[in-house]
Amino acid sequence: MMPIKAEYIWIDGYKPTAGLRSKTKILDHIVRSAEDLPEWSFDGSSTRQAEGNFSDCLLKPVCVIPDPIRGEPNVLVLCEVLNADGTVHASNARARLRSIADQYSNQEAWFGIEQEYNLYKDGRPLGFPEGGFPAPQGEYYCGVGANNMFGRELVEQHLSACLSAGLKIDGINAEVMPGQWEFQVGPVGPLAVSDQLWLARWIMCRLGENFGIEVRFKPKPQMGDWNGAGAHTNFSTKAMREVGGIKIIEEACQKLQVKHAEHMKVYGAGNELRLTGLHETCSINEFRYGVSDRGASIRIPVYSAKNGRGYLEDRRPAANMDPYKVCAKLMETICGE
Ligand code: ADP
Ligand code: MN
Ligand code: MN
Ligand code: MN
Repeated sequence: MMPIKAEYIWIDGYKPTAGLRSKTKILDHIVRSAEDLPEWSFDGSSTRQAEGNFSDCLLKPVCVIPDPIRGEPNVLVLCEVLNADGTVHASNARARLRSIADQYSNQEAWFGIEQEYNLYKDGRPLGFPEGGFPAPQGEYYCGVGANNMFGRELVEQHLSACLSAGLKIDGINAEVMPGQWEFQVGPVGPLAVSDQLWLARWIMCRLGENFGIEVRFKPKPQMGDWNGAGAHTNFSTKAMREVGGIKIIEEACQKLQVKHAEHMKVYGAGNELRLTGLHETCSINEFRYGVSDRGASIRIPVYSAKNGRGYLEDRRPAANMDPYKVCAKLMETICGE
């Protein structure tokens, strides 16, 4: 048989915002699940995960999907990073989410994450003319036409790739700034949404290479009167989704209020540039929740308020957040007593 290409993907040790890395392993057998894949190692001194004199880190496969770029039977393999002795590496936030997800599994938490991002070419936002500015924001959001839309071919390829790899993409839309877009993952459980978000980010960056387009996940990619990029995190438990759930949603908002500062610490570096109180955000120094309120920290969708059950939307996380940390924090605050 033809050898199989397995792309091992992991999260590096860069601070304050980690990046994605990957390398290819050739296998001589079909891969159906993570158990079919060997552990592997990499040079942690090149990714800020180890010192040069003791540089080996381990890659433990945890999530395998068909590779939508190389095609089947090749695979993408998301990994956790371990120290050489097999213990959890300091940069591995997934391990902690694993134990929190386990602790509260009876509450059946679901997450849906709206990943906003910006496309760049030659160092400029896609749609920004050389040495100048495009028309101000207004017609780009969910727009159509070559004067308004930049990068759609890449965006469409990404959507098809994610769907063919079995990722639970909920939808996509063009955003408020030129060359700014969004895709949504979910609703699924905490580990699934986080693994899938990281994989979807990787696929987006990888496909961008084919177009010479750089994908940026940054809270405020362009200063000035341009929207920032967030990662609104939608959350529900079984109790919130059942009759009378709106009461549980409101209680969750009150719990979140008390922990606002703690949450902001893991919601993405540079988020203060985005959460100014303008551009559909609440100021980082305030906490507010409300029905349909896009200027609040937490929005209760009108649909949830009307039905008396559903979910809440945490609008605070930035585009560069680590979903393992955000999901863990939300579950700790809301699912705990
Ligand atoms: P908006 O742009 O209006 O804030 P989107 O349609 O972009 O909303 O995103 C809504 C998100 O909410 C999606 O990611 C979806 O998966 C998620 N979602 C829907 N229902 C639930 C639920 N019961 N629990 C958690 N997330 C949910
Ligand atoms: Mn959205
Ligand atoms: Mn959006
Ligand atoms: Mn939203």
